[in-house]
Amino acid sequence: MIKDINTEPNIHDPNFHCKSCKVKYAGRNEYRGHLRIVHFMILKTIPKHKIPQKPILPDPDNPSLYCRSCDHTYASKGHYKLHCQYTHDSVNAFATKVAYFNVLQIV
Ligand SMILES: [Zn+2]
Ligand SMILES: [Zn+2]
Repeated sequence: MIKDINTEPNIHDPNFHCKSCKVKYAGRNEYRGHLRIVHFMILKTIPKHKIPQKPILPDPDNPSLYCRSCDHTYASKGHYKLHCQYTHDSVNAFATKVAYFNVLQIV
C-alpha cells in the first residue's frame, strides 16, 4: 500500500474514516488498529476499563510511571508513587506521610 503523507489520517476522526485509504471502520479499536498497522502511527493507549464516577486517578503501580490524571510521566518510581499518594490521595495519605518521613530519616 502506498503511503500518502499529504493525507495523513486523523486519529480522532469521529467517523473512524481513514481519508488516506478511504476506508471507514465501525469502531474505534478497529480504526486505531488500522492506523497503527498501516500508517505506523503511534497512539496513546486507551484504558480498557472506564472509570466511573470518580475523577481520573492514576494507578500507583503503573509500570510506565505515567500519571494519567496529570498527563505526566515520572522518571523515578519513588517520585511517581509519592506523587500519586500526595497529589491524588490514592492511598491512605497519613500512613504514606509517616512512611515517607521514616524513609527520609533513614537516608
Ligand atoms: Zn489508512
Ligand atoms: Zn498526577
